[in-house]
Amino acid sequence: MSGTRRGRALVVGGGFAGLVTARALAEHFDRVRVLDKDTLPDRAAHRPGTPQSRHPHALLARGAELLEDLFPGLREELTGHGAPVSDFGQFPMLYPTGWSPAVRTELVLQTFSRPLLEFLIRRRVQALPNVTFHTATEAEALLVHDSRVTGVVARPRSTGRPTAHEADLVVVADGRHSRLPTWLEKADHPPVRRLRVDGKLAYTSRLYQRPPDTDPGFQASLQATIAPTTPSGGTVIAIEDDRWLVCLFGAGGISAPTTPEGFDAYAATLDNPHVKQIVVECRPISAIHRYSGLGGHWNRYDRLSPPLRRLAVVGDALCALNPLYGHGMTVATQQALLLRDAITAHSLDQADGVYHRHAARTLLLPWLMTTSLDRGWSPEPAPLPARASRTALLHLLHRIPDHPGLYRKFLNVQHMVASPLTLLLPFPRRHRQGPRP
Ligand SMILES: Cc1cc2nc3c(=O)[nH]c(=O)nc-3n(C[C@H](O)[C@H](O)[C@H](O)COP(=O)(O)OP(=O)(O)OC[C@H]3O[C@@H](n4cnc5c(N)ncnc54)[C@H](O)[C@@H]3O)c2cc1C
Repeated sequence: MSGTRRGRALVVGGGFAGLVTARALAEHFDRVRVLDKDTLPDRAAHRPGTPQSRHPHALLARGAELLEDLFPGLREELTGHGAPVSDFGQFPMLYPTGWSPAVRTELVLQTFSRPLLEFLIRRRVQALPNVTFHTATEAEALLVHDSRVTGVVARPRSTGRPTAHEADLVVVADGRHSRLPTWLEKADHPPVRRLRVDGKLAYTSRLYQRPPDTDPGFQASLQATIAPTTPSGGTVIAIEDDRWLVCLFGAGGISAPTTPEGFDAYAATLDNPHVKQIVVECRPISAIHRYSGLGGHWNRYDRLSPPLRRLAVVGDALCALNPLYGHGMTVATQQALLLRDAITAHSLDQADGVYHRHAARTLLLPWLMTTSLDRGWSPEPAPLPARASRTALLHLLHRIPDHPGLYRKFLNVQHMVASPLTLLLPFPRRHRQGPRP
């Protein structure tokens, strides 16, 4: 294998996308170096570089499958840490049009905290013999020579001195607030075009103790926000260590308060009885954290002109999606594998371009699914594909409560295990069920 390996890869950011990419590249490079500005904990813990870890993270079925291929046994390891498992079709979702019907699916719902998932993956990547981590080291600039990226400049906190890290391929995985657009500017490179759809979404979350040996009859429950009629919603998920994670959503510019009284009062306004039940009956065991400004944006590095060779961008640094739909970790894992495939099939000077084109193609559907409804928060006219997608999604939402077969198909599309074309096949029979909880 080492005869086919290709020098040194450098990954900026050791969050979710950086980790899965380092794992995928370790098969093809002699050395993979991961830089992160944080000190990475040796347990499942929050850290400043990933503030989203305070909030619920659901993994789509497609993402879970791909992760299991990269990290065999991960599901069982999560289960061993107390992450509950059930059928996604049983997960009650309240849309403005009614409750989702309970259906049997092949889609696994496993719920856990984001720090646990990231820690289990990080531990596996840290154990790879050709991967090294440079932590508490913040990347500050790209090294560019003749339209080719040759490394980055980073500043370790220990010395405070900028240091050059040279590499044959640089992967940028520095997350939603990526500095890469600024680094391009510093390198006198024309800017990347950014698509943006801002639903002005905010998450406000708190942890609760789950009394052991009690079964409330649900593992997770959700009330969706939909533009422009339903700006508030929320979710509750059971996670490891007998805890509930409750998150209250606000869209279109509103957000749940971060005071205990305000949080409870906001929860009480929801129509989802499960979220209310946990807030009223369980003991809070954390502070309340808010993450606002959760719009979607897509940096079109596939169209960077002129292109920069030996540079690949993955995860939220490439495209940060509205998190309500749960696509982020799945598309980041897809991108890690697309990059690996491009490197296997092409020279390093071609692989980055091939990768960015393929990544753009696979992002198209999640981008449309997650932005077309959010455009309803803005008075600006939406482009035709977004209008068509919004009409189709609203039509689906009206039918879902009474059509279990259609809902099953929709879930498969949402989880990226079936093509949206399957939704065009003949509609299954209507079936009216009573109010869900
Ligand atoms: C509130 C919220 C809820 C979400 N819920 C879901 C969900 O349910 N399902 C889902 O699939 N996705 C969800 N996501 C999206 C998911 O968190 C991201 O898609 C995923 O974390 C992407 O990983 P990333 O590596 O690109 O970014 P991150 O995981 O954020 O990692 C970025 C890393 O880069 C490091 N870094 C930043 N700048 C530098 C620098 N200059 N030098 C060195 N290191 C640097 C940071 O320390 C961090 O470790 C959610 C996101 C948010 C905000």
